[in-house]
Amino acid sequence: MFEVVIGLEVHIQLNTKTKIFCSCPTSFGEEANKNVCPVCLGLPGALPVLNIEAVKKAINFGNAVNATVHKKSIFNRKNYFYPDLPKGYQISQFEIPIVEGGELFIDFEDGSSKRIGITRAHLEEDAGKNIHESSYSKVDLNRAGTPLLEIVSEPDMRNADEVIRYLKKLHSIVRYLDISDANMQEGSFRCDVNVSIRPKGDDKLYTRAEIKNMNSFRFIQKALDYEVQRQIEAWEDGTYEIDVVQETRLFDVISGETVSMRGKEDSDEYRYFPEPDLLPVILTEEMMEEGKKIPELPDEKKERYIKEYKIKEYDAAVLTSSLNMANFFENLIGYGASAKNSVTWLSVELQGRLKNGYTLENSPVDSKKLADLIIRIDDGTISGKAGKEVLDYLMIHDIKVDEVIEKLGLKQVSNDSDLYDIIDTILGKNSDKVNEYKNGKEKLLGFFVGQCMKASKGKANPSKINQLLKKRLSS
Ligand code: ADP
Ligand code: MG
Ligand code: ZN
Repeated sequence: MFEVVIGLEVHIQLNTKTKIFCSCPTSFGEEANKNVCPVCLGLPGALPVLNIEAVKKAINFGNAVNATVHKKSIFNRKNYFYPDLPKGYQISQFEIPIVEGGELFIDFEDGSSKRIGITRAHLEEDAGKNIHESSYSKVDLNRAGTPLLEIVSEPDMRNADEVIRYLKKLHSIVRYLDISDANMQEGSFRCDVNVSIRPKGDDKLYTRAEIKNMNSFRFIQKALDYEVQRQIEAWEDGTYEIDVVQETRLFDVISGETVSMRGKEDSDEYRYFPEPDLLPVILTEEMMEEGKKIPELPDEKKERYIKEYKIKEYDAAVLTSSLNMANFFENLIGYGASAKNSVTWLSVELQGRLKNGYTLENSPVDSKKLADLIIRIDDGTISGKAGKEVLDYLMIHDIKVDEVIEKLGLKQVSNDSDLYDIIDTILGKNSDKVNEYKNGKEKLLGFFVGQCMKASKGKANPSKINQLLKKRLSS
């Protein structure tokens, strides 16, 4: 039996207005090679100047994951050649990154959580983009020099599920901090997946393969499935030493396979050396203090929800997974909806209906309207089942909740005398069963409730029917 060992390197693009070492804009989707200057083009003699905003965002991140923020860190040159890197080196951090030794917690459905260590987070510049045509390639340097924070995890994950939970948590933290758009499609949140296997019980780290540039959860899952299987087969076939080598692999979305891209350089092959054009980064006391000011983060919010609203651990984790969701939830409560119903009506019912480009921000049913609906369920005007019909209707019609209830005739019958009418008819028709009930066959109550609900065409308030039936039967 094998255990899978996974560690991630996540690159997030920091959402500064300008690049990390020059004042070119970082805007996405511009005409190729428009956002460039001598610094990010790497022209000889052009000098980099560090963008303090990128530093502040890195400090925020460090504090958010309980890491050490180093008062002094340094930039290094990582030397390699690639057409999208005109300088011939990337400015990055190596021996002393700005952030070191943190942690984050991933959440599971049963309410438990697991700690994933964060080794380090360092600042660096992004490269440009190569665009490959059939017989030639083009280079777009708009992205060159965009600030990145590379977040390196400990090899603490054991399967794709944990990887995805880690990425989602990290995503939500950087969104809460507002340090990155973290848009996976646009490449501002991308990840390299390092994976190895080992016999269960062994705590040694075996040779890892690094699967580069993954930006979709689905592909990460598939790439891991394939790569783990490949390593296990090699082990079992006795070809592990030959087939599993330290290398960079790419996931081919068409074949669903990972393929070798290049042998993995050891770090000394990059000839890292301190960047001579930049001073060490020395943080002032003021910056260190200022960097501790961070908003309420997902885990704290989660704990607060559990206490304040008495909801389950995992429900609280789902609600706080994004700020939009959390804010929506708090609006529902603010408008007077019950916490218990808000949880399901937001995280299950509304979320499940948001498709085809609809999100919480542009949802046809806003928090006020959903609260109106939940309140009608809370106060027994309609059943939960009817609520689903109302919500379906609200997704396509701009109309008030009470009007829909009226229009679709979904109001529950809740007043005692109407309910007794139904109950008496049913009991009258089933006098033999009434006798059996009175002689101790109490499970017949369910039968009576069912008959009453049926007679009311589902509109009777089930809990009131239950209550009134018991009264009638005991008299
Ligand atoms: P590099 O920058 O050269 O890729 P790092 O030392 O920064 O190397 O490690 C990269 C990532 O690989 C880290 O997330 C680490 O947890 C992970 N990792 C290291 N060894 C293993 C291993 N044997 N199996 C799985 N992941 C590993
Ligand atoms: Mg790496
Ligand atoms: Zn520039």
